[in-house]
Amino acid sequence: MKAPVVASSAFADTSPLYDDASRALAQKLAAMDLETDESLHDVSRVGARLASLGLYAYLRKVDTRHLCVIREHLAFHSPLADAVFAVQGLCMNPLIRADRRDVLDAMERGEKIGGFALTEPGAGSDVASMRTTARRDGSTWILNGHKTLISNVGIAHHFVVFANANPEAGKKGISAFLVPADAHGVELSRIELSGDHPLGRITLSDCRLPADALVGQEGQGLSLALGTLGIFRTTVGAAALGMAWRALEESVAHVNRREQFGQKLAELQLVQAKIADMATELTAARFLVASAAYHNEVTTTSSDAARRSENGRRASMAKMTATESAQRIIDHAVQLHGGMGVAIGTKVEELYREIRPLRIYEGATDVLKLIIAQSILKNRS
Ligand SMILES: Cc1cc2nc3c(=O)[nH]c(=O)nc-3n(C[C@H](O)[C@H](O)[C@H](O)COP(=O)(O)OP(=O)(O)OC[C@H]3O[C@@H](n4cnc5c(N)ncnc54)[C@H](O)[C@@H]3O)c2cc1C
Repeated sequence: MKAPVVASSAFADTSPLYDDASRALAQKLAAMDLETDESLHDVSRVGARLASLGLYAYLRKVDTRHLCVIREHLAFHSPLADAVFAVQGLCMNPLIRADRRDVLDAMERGEKIGGFALTEPGAGSDVASMRTTARRDGSTWILNGHKTLISNVGIAHHFVVFANANPEAGKKGISAFLVPADAHGVELSRIELSGDHPLGRITLSDCRLPADALVGQEGQGLSLALGTLGIFRTTVGAAALGMAWRALEESVAHVNRREQFGQKLAELQLVQAKIADMATELTAARFLVASAAYHNEVTTTSSDAARRSENGRRASMAKMTATESAQRIIDHAVQLHGGMGVAIGTKVEELYREIRPLRIYEGATDVLKLIIAQSILKNRS
């Protein structure tokens, strides 16, 4: 199924919040044959294919609106392609902040696929409590520790790994390191997921790295990690919109086709009510995502802490609303498809599995509520 062109999609409602380049990008993506492109559904080929479509260049430019447009379209067709695209961005972003052009050129060309290794068995939502260490030994670094739930394990050539080089300094001791997947002392293992997402663990055992493995300055790791997540949080919302949009399109087609009680499902008023709820929720979430992306672009250079806090609140609202709404919209879509909605091989069944992790990673909904509330309460105290 092709994504409807911009003018006929709900995207048109929010288009005033996007710039001309974003609208042109949406049209370009809608014209690409993303649905029938088999390499976008094949974990071994998807990383290189996204590069040949020229999409990693947008990760280098870091315009949140462009990233949202791309993620919404990719997720509509292939949640796998969306996930690999996003994780390449999570790896590139700290490298961009640290001006590591040496590595970025190869990543933009798709010759190197990356990962972003922050989470540990004992440090999930509370990332600052990580236990992985980095020790300086002459001109080299030695890393030890465990990372888990890391995307792109199995396809990544390298990872930006966060480790504490000065545990006495607490979270201020966290630094970022570029770790080749095949470095001595790196062991990778796969975690099987309900969705089609390459995921795994990284064990670091006396992994010795050259001095230039350090990304940015020593002690800058947490700010690189949180700055990156701050950019990408809104785009997770956009990915959820893409999946919800697809669920709505699938549902509209199904209820117009399927007949029961002598009429099309689309003629039953309770079915119409469901379609109305799905479309309205999708459009409302789209506005929050578009607003967060818009404000992120226009105030991204602001040194004003209050503006940055407002942007963090907007991104959290956008991600929370879009992912929670998408879960409900996709659940309605499964219901409208009846028994076939849970049959392996149907698109809505795939979406039902794929949407779930988005409510957890890059800020679980519960944690986002804290960010939103604290931003509001802080400004009023
Ligand atoms: C598909 C997938 C891909 C991922 N990819 C990556 C990756 O590439 N790199 C990476 O570093 N990590 C990745 N993660 C890990 C992800 O970032 C963590 O799962 C997430 O941060 C939550 O951490 P946790 O799983 O340890 O849950 P926990 O931190 O143990 O939290 C469990 C639950 O407790 C609740 N909770 C936690 N804290 C609070 C609080 N303060 N207040 C209220 N409720 C709270 C929430 O409901 C939360 O879902 C990925 C996860 C998934 C599922």
